[in-house]
Amino acid sequence: MKLIYFVIDGAADKINGPTSLERAKKPALDSLTPKGKCGLMYTIGKGIAPESDSAVFSILGYNPHEHYIGRGPVEALGAGFDLKSGYEVAFRANFATIDPATLKIIDRRCGRNLRSDEAAELAKTVDGIKLELYDGYARVAATIGHRGVVIIGSKTYRLSDNVGNTDPAYIKVGKISMAAKNFEMKLVECKPLDNSIEAKRTAELVNIFTKKVIEILDRHPINIKRASRGDLKANVLLLRDGGGEIIKVKPINELFGMKFIAIAEMPVEKGIARLVGMDVAEVPPPSKDHARDYENRLETTLSLLEKYDAIYVHLKGPDEPGHDGNLEGKIRAIELIDKYFTKPLIESIDLENTAIIVTSDHATPWTHKSHTDDPVPVLIYIPGVDGDGISRFTERECSRGSLGLIEHGWKLLPIVYSLMKKVSNM
Ligand SMILES: [Zn+2]
Repeated sequence: MKLIYFVIDGAADKINGPTSLERAKKPALDSLTPKGKCGLMYTIGKGIAPESDSAVFSILGYNPHEHYIGRGPVEALGAGFDLKSGYEVAFRANFATIDPATLKIIDRRCGRNLRSDEAAELAKTVDGIKLELYDGYARVAATIGHRGVVIIGSKTYRLSDNVGNTDPAYIKVGKISMAAKNFEMKLVECKPLDNSIEAKRTAELVNIFTKKVIEILDRHPINIKRASRGDLKANVLLLRDGGGEIIKVKPINELFGMKFIAIAEMPVEKGIARLVGMDVAEVPPPSKDHARDYENRLETTLSLLEKYDAIYVHLKGPDEPGHDGNLEGKIRAIELIDKYFTKPLIESIDLENTAIIVTSDHATPWTHKSHTDDPVPVLIYIPGVDGDGISRFTERECSRGSLGLIEHGWKLLPIVYSLMKKVSNM
């Protein structure tokens, strides 16, 4: 039996009024729902509003409190880097716009219009630069749009990843960052988070790097050009979620006895997939033509079904309008996914021999404009397993299903696996 694990990013809302899933017309998904088992799920745990990366890691069957290595190393892994353990620390980076005189951040994403080729050129200029202290150096790579990876390293001195962010929007707590509340839009000085000499060194190197980057990028021809056409300069790199080690976990294929592949569009998703030992099918990043994007993900899914047992597909659509507080946009994204992905998927696959999971990595309620800890709806369709007869895939309807409330996302795949085992000879 094959498995399609289908995650709709941020589709869930808070149940305090009609939700996007209730408002959206999604006949394909709603036609599958009665045939499956339904429930609600905290993707990491009650009280935790997760970022997508740790949430995806969790719903793939891994407890992030025990195993997660942090966003920086995951992005590095996704971008194809390895880390010299003890001597390098990887950060997730944003190209941003800063006023070099006051260090005020004008835009955390340079107006969201930095092209990947511009970013690559800027990254090349600062990649490999030497830092004056501790035999320090930096490796820099741009990934998609304003996003990138920065690795701060030393050739001879040990470093530590226990240092804070320079991005004011996130505060590092343990291995994960939380969205900062009421922060000042100003570059944050990197601080050691313990008294070790390693953390102090690392923070110093980050601050030296940041200063140099502003000097170099502010007068870079690409930024002169951007400024002359009225665009914001990409003249700083904001760092967050430093991590010093890439520790791989027990491969997902071994955990569940199935050969998995992920369809991934962003470096962070590729990183998570590689971390759990999954193959990765690369698809182009989301474009303006969402319908075409979903068709493309569908074609890729169908083409992989023969070679793989389980396919993880993650569609971004509803998350961004959720962050923007845009109910209409969220509804439209859910409807487009239904029309261009779910409907043709259900029509094309053999439902007698294919199990399907549908859920979200977290809620992004349009009423809150951010990720929240609200539980997300879950649907598990397995041929030969009785469905709950629930009429629609919504938060409220799924809450009445036989799965009840799943308290941690990492418990989902074991449930699916045992149900699949029961009805097939796996
Ligand atoms: Zn997400």
